[in-house]
Amino acid sequence: LLEKAVKELHDIIEGLRLKSPFDAEELAEDFAQFAKDKLEILLSLTKTDEKRLSQLVEDPWADHDLLNAQDPPIKENGVYKHFILGAGYGGLQYAVRLLEDGIARADEIRLLDAAGGFGGTWYWNRFPGLHCDIESYVYLPLLEETGYIPSKKYAPGHEIRAHAKRIAAKWNLVDKTLFRTDVEEITWDELSELWNIRIKQSRGPLHSPWNFTFQAQYVYLAAGVLTKPQIPDIPGLLSFSGSLFHTARWNYNVTGGSQENQQLFKLNEKRVAIVGTAATSIGVVPEVAKYAGELYVVQRTPAYVKPRNQQPTDPKLFGTQVARKQGWQYERQINLNRFMTNAAAPDEENMVGDGWTDMPAYSAVLGSPSHQVVGSSPDELNHHVDKFHALDLPHMEAVRNRVAQVVKDSKTAEKLKPWFPSWCKRPTFSDTYLESFNLPNVHLLDTGGKGPSEITESGIVIDDKEYPVDIIIFGTGYEPPSSGLGSPAARTNVKIYGCGGESLNDKWLSKGATTFHGYATNGFPNLFFTGINQATITGNNVFMLGLIAEHVAYFVSEAERRVEPGQRAIVEVSKEAEDSHSTEILNRSAFFSPQVGCTPGYFNGYGEASRITDVAEKLKRARGAAWSEGTVSFLRYIQEWRDEGSMKGVSITSAG
Ligand code: FAD
Repeated sequence: LLEKAVKELHDIIEGLRLKSPFDAEELAEDFAQFAKDKLEILLSLTKTDEKRLSQLVEDPWADHDLLNAQDPPIKENGVYKHFILGAGYGGLQYAVRLLEDGIARADEIRLLDAAGGFGGTWYWNRFPGLHCDIESYVYLPLLEETGYIPSKKYAPGHEIRAHAKRIAAKWNLVDKTLFRTDVEEITWDELSELWNIRIKQSRGPLHSPWNFTFQAQYVYLAAGVLTKPQIPDIPGLLSFSGSLFHTARWNYNVTGGSQENQQLFKLNEKRVAIVGTAATSIGVVPEVAKYAGELYVVQRTPAYVKPRNQQPTDPKLFGTQVARKQGWQYERQINLNRFMTNAAAPDEENMVGDGWTDMPAYSAVLGSPSHQVVGSSPDELNHHVDKFHALDLPHMEAVRNRVAQVVKDSKTAEKLKPWFPSWCKRPTFSDTYLESFNLPNVHLLDTGGKGPSEITESGIVIDDKEYPVDIIIFGTGYEPPSSGLGSPAARTNVKIYGCGGESLNDKWLSKGATTFHGYATNGFPNLFFTGINQATITGNNVFMLGLIAEHVAYFVSEAERRVEPGQRAIVEVSKEAEDSHSTEILNRSAFFSPQVGCTPGYFNGYGEASRITDVAEKLKRARGAAWSEGTVSFLRYIQEWRDEGSMKGVSITSAG
């Protein structure tokens, strides 16, 4: 089967091509070339030795005095039953599932995060204009259980962070969580049959870090996907004498204001450059535009911006229109998913009814049950890609027309029009971003895909012209989740060694993604991870994290149920099971062929797909595809396995 899949993939690669109503083939080639260069010049701020840059990702929010005074919940040489890496919505949902399913008591759980508090993404990111782009009624998890009603259809960042704290408090997790701590290495100890976890805890600028090791029976990696900020390594960057920072650590000392009170009064009279026009900048630009003397928006590729239609929640109507019955949140999440994956029945109610639900061609990213498994002949592939372009054209035309309607200067409007298909980037939503370009102090600097060519002591250079600025803000995103072929170890920045000292990174690098259902791999017992590779991808990430927690909790509860009381369970997926699952994924991977030739971004590892020509290497990447028929179909697939009841493909033994 695997050989057949290899051959089919080879045919797919031969047959791939990009089509667009803009005849964008030439542009796509330029972007592919650009992506090759771009790959070499993106700087990961978490890995650089350059102090001025590494300081940009230090934690500005941690209350070191408060945290240093607390009794640390994880002790040197301690042994814990359930250890969760990450205290964002992924980690929190693992903990809640274990508790709610009766698998663990709160005192058996420990969480840990590099951050100084709960929330993950929503702890680190506090930039002005930050909101969720998925409706908060389906994005914020556990609304029914906590009884919380979000203030707006799209909640602001501080409210989303506060909800994470609410969950931690309700499920008694606050004093079980160690903050400001990096996990550096996780190693399977053959003797004790436990995981050894080596960590480094920062204690603030006045104290040396603590390094120590502890042990855990079960390890859950919930380290997120967009956690390592990056910037382009523009020549002259360090010569800049003004202030620079990344949006992932917004510097309110420079701008004035705070996350709760976004009066950026220190920007008055200042000349500001914002580099990058992806989702973050769509939120930031309108807020900075209100205060800055001059604002230069440096664009590589235009974003596609749909209306947000923000609305406050009316608590009286919430109960009748949204929270209509028990189980409403899951029902609404599934309903949204069906619209996103082009799977809604013609008469199905569109509960969320926003801009995610009117772009069926975006299912080229998410998967869709509305297509057969796509064959690999050039004809079948062309037909498949054509179908998606036909589906996409009216939607993207509407997006482009809206730019022309909103932006008064026609030359600026032309440059702001996204020429690529909808599935090349995550959509953005704003009622004020495009409008900002009508303000006299806001200037679009379009770089035709190249980015700035230089930074000088006093400004930023685009096409040989220098623009003097006082502040440069990078909204240039994060290391892509596909780095290290999407290995859970690479994504977490942790060295992970399983049975016989096997390195998880090496396993991925030699074979590509190799999992059972996406969340566990052979040779790494009692270790689970979140992710989309060989699993499912949804636009609503937090919903997906809940589904993962539910499936993983099933593995653990079965393991606990099947060993004698007092015994320690060891649960491990078999090689055969993961090979068979990998083949299922590979056989379906041609579905995602419309994505080939997209502009660089985190969806495609900043153009990595264009750089790799070796077929075996491409095959490894194809193994990391998601389930091509969308989340509802994937849920059915894993549910059938659970319903069968024998834990087929999984071994459960006792330690010792
Ligand atoms: P995270 O929230 O990223 O949490 C992971 C945590 O793990 C982090 O706090 C990190 O510090 C910690 N960690 C990682 N490695 C280590 C290590 N080695 N040691 C210690 N700690 C470690 N998704 C949506 O669906 N809708 C949205 O509207 C949306 N908006 C977003 C806006 C921004 C600005 C960003 C960056 C992302 C957005 N996302 C959105 C994606 C978002 O990341 C997910 O929705 C979700 O919050 C991820 O939760 P998580 O727990 O998996 O990861």
